[in-house]
Amino acid sequence: MAYRSIPIRLRLLSRKILRLITGRSDDIFMQVHHGFCLLTALFVTSAGLFNVLLDITSLLAGVAMASFGCGLVAIWYFSRFRGHYREMATLFSLTLLFVVIPMNWFSNAGSLGPTALYCLTAALYTLSVLREVAMLRKPVVFLAFAEPLILYLLEQRFPHWVSGYTSPEVRFWDMQFSYIAAMVILFITAWGHLHRYKAEAERSRQYAQYLKHMADRDGLTSLYNHRAILERAGRIRKEKPVCSLILCDVDFFKRLNDTYGHLIGDTVLIEVATHLQNTAFEAGALAGRYGGEEFLLVCSAPHETAMTLAEQARSNIATRVTCPEQVTISIGVAQCQDNESLADTLHRADQALYRAKEQGRNRVEPASATDAASNLVSSVP
Ligand code: GH3
Ligand code: MG
Ligand code: MG
Repeated sequence: MAYRSIPIRLRLLSRKILRLITGRSDDIFMQVHHGFCLLTALFVTSAGLFNVLLDITSLLAGVAMASFGCGLVAIWYFSRFRGHYREMATLFSLTLLFVVIPMNWFSNAGSLGPTALYCLTAALYTLSVLREVAMLRKPVVFLAFAEPLILYLLEQRFPHWVSGYTSPEVRFWDMQFSYIAAMVILFITAWGHLHRYKAEAERSRQYAQYLKHMADRDGLTSLYNHRAILERAGRIRKEKPVCSLILCDVDFFKRLNDTYGHLIGDTVLIEVATHLQNTAFEAGALAGRYGGEEFLLVCSAPHETAMTLAEQARSNIATRVTCPEQVTISIGVAQCQDNESLADTLHRADQALYRAKEQGRNRVEPASATDAASNLVSSVP
């Protein structure tokens, strides 16, 4: 087993414990809630014991509060391990509102104690984390904000329900404890939001990257699609000193489709695309699917180099594509001239390709000076 230093072991262990408490989930708020729920359970239990120790409440009230803390542990357990997140989230906020907060109010000096602070944190927590309580969310939040007033009115009506502080020191320590607890709760909530924001930003970034990739790719061959390869050709034409286009067309592809079916036809297209891509990649060129069984290679090289590359592509296809009959391609090559547009160069490459077809296929033809430029291809930048 690999040696791990003590700090690393401790970090791994704390991560494991955190996972155990919060659960593995893509929903960061669900994780936050599980952590928060267990923390509240511990807090309520310890507050019960704390109250008894500081003599703030009677033993009975302290034990009752600690028991509710245990009830919260059960809520956490059913949510975390039994898949009842939604129901337990609702039960949790109702328990906070109708049991824990009133209990805390009357056992911790009523309006002189810190409970109003908990009402505020409970309202904020339900509002921002417990979206799962759905329809109950707004009433719960409203009630949490209104609760100090309701409890105050009750306190006025039944003053003997309230256990006061036995000394100013006890009040001080109870207030300190409550401020820290409220701060921890707010911190956890803010951390959840920050973490969620980061996770969502990362997810959006990855998704945008994926969409961009998909928008540029041909669905069958995964090469650049018609628009993407022309865009890149336009860029190379502008930015590099030389640019040549190599237009390839699979020979007698219709016949191949008719003989072996479209599925085999598709497989052949994928294989042709892969070989063209590899050949182009080795030469630092780009490959795209121009249309049906036509492919376009773009390289930043003069005509002679492009001719060599085209010849290599032709020979690779003629010898390497696996099919019941030999698969070949015909190619037309043209270098962009200073005074012509990309569309014109493409048209000259197409004319050269046409000649390659006429002259028997499975060959590479250079565009000649007599090939006329044309502005027929309107989709070319
Ligand atoms: P040539 O040698 O003159 O190029 O003849 P060809 O049969 O290759 O050319 P043609 O233009 O007559 O036929 C091209 C065929 O390519 C017709 C079309 O059905 C087929 N095709 C185009 N896209 C796809 C595709 O994505 N999958 C399959 N299986 N066939 C396709
Ligand atoms: Mg064709
Ligand atoms: Mg063809």
